[in-house]
Amino acid sequence: MRKPIIAGNWKMNKTISEAAQLIGDIKRETLNQSVEAVLCVPYLSIGKAKEMTEGSGIKIGAQNMHWEENGAFTGEISPIMLNELKVDYVILGHSERRQYFNETDETVNKKVHSAIAHGIAPIVCVGETLEQRRDNRHKEIVRDQVKGAFLDIDKNDAKKTVIAYEPIWAIGTGETASSEQAEEMCALVRNTIEEIYDAETAESIRIQYGGSVKPGNVSELMSMDNIDGALVGGASLKSSDFVKLINY
Ligand code: PEP
Repeated sequence: MRKPIIAGNWKMNKTISEAAQLIGDIKRETLNQSVEAVLCVPYLSIGKAKEMTEGSGIKIGAQNMHWEENGAFTGEISPIMLNELKVDYVILGHSERRQYFNETDETVNKKVHSAIAHGIAPIVCVGETLEQRRDNRHKEIVRDQVKGAFLDIDKNDAKKTVIAYEPIWAIGTGETASSEQAEEMCALVRNTIEEIYDAETAESIRIQYGGSVKPGNVSELMSMDNIDGALVGGASLKSSDFVKLINY
């Protein structure tokens, strides 16, 4: 039985004091404990977020990391830095990182290896552009992204990861994939994991849908067989919406 996982991706939003306010508001509400709630906050707020969520069951994630432990990589954050803060998850290969910061399947794969080696669970993002979907290449693109991210990853390590299928045309646009489209692609991701490993690994791995998930569409998406959670941008920035998502 896969535990549902709903993760907020705050992106480049919220100062440390604003983050504390939002986490305080979320903590005042009753959250369904059978759903894993994750907040992927900006690096600067990770320490505060960990301190404030201790004992609450809420997990904390980073939104990116470098694969090296240290060195001349100005502006980067390493897995050992995240480890000191006891970060639970790290988002890797988000489409905004692929689009604006030249993230490739190869760098995503290096980061997946490194995160696993340091005991941080990766949330690996995959998804096609609108153009690729119009050209009917979305399945091939997403299959290749999954294969690229999991290259030479051991099957027991693969089970520790979460995969987020996020069609780029649905991120931050208000346009959600239909639950059938989302289910079809999450099933394709699961089949790809089965091709790489085996049915048992594919059954155990959690797959999220991401792209304009909000309180009004979350329960239908979560009712799909292959959708085990959501990666949420916009709606995770408002406590009442995020709480509704967790309590879908
Ligand atoms: C995201 O940032 O991963 C995302 C899905 O954003 P939004 O929910 O705003 O579309």
